[in-house]
Amino acid sequence: MKLVVATNNQHKLVEFRRILEPIGFEVLSQKEAGVSVNPEENGETFAANAKIKALAVFEACGLPAVADDSGLCVDALDGRPGVHSARYMGEDTAQEIKNAALLKELEGIPEEKRGAQFVSAICCVLAADNIVECEGACHGSIGYEPLGDGGFGYDPIFMVDGRSYSQLSGEEKDAISHRGVALRKLHDILNETFKK
Ligand code: IMP
Repeated sequence: MKLVVATNNQHKLVEFRRILEPIGFEVLSQKEAGVSVNPEENGETFAANAKIKALAVFEACGLPAVADDSGLCVDALDGRPGVHSARYMGEDTAQEIKNAALLKELEGIPEEKRGAQFVSAICCVLAADNIVECEGACHGSIGYEPLGDGGFGYDPIFMVDGRSYSQLSGEEKDAISHRGVALRKLHDILNETFKK
């Protein structure tokens, strides 16, 4: 089954391909599908924004489209930056500065209060009246300094079992990540749907 990934984020596209291709999907980028859209993500939830993005691509090309809206929710910050993760400190601010600012916000916060989770909401538009939605989360904590050089975004400061997301190989990250969990749920739902 062909799925167009509704994202302009090349790092996310790499993860979508890495997770979806081995489980049988033919993954197309927006460019490969001849689509150029960048809808405003003005929803109040991850799910609402994922739907905005997937619908925009589906409506532009008529092919099944899948989008993820994701972010980092920090317990000590009442869930911030959450749905505003991409816009934390401004969309164009360098990620290193965002990571440093988040670490600064948690200065003095002890280990047991540094809990955080990455959340991914997936929306897959198969047809205008056939939309599948699911979510995945990965629980961890915020470290004390950026660690590792893989991945993207907040990966260097998000710790799971003693290592940052950045210190994991792609396959190790996919096995536990919010996006990995959510996309495997999507796969299971679609499998069930098409069995009927
Ligand atoms: P979105 O494109 O609105 O979903 O933006 C999500 C933002 O959350 C990204 O710009 C990243 O900063 C962050 N993010 C989402 N997933 C990840 C991840 O797997 N690792 C690191 N940061 C992520």
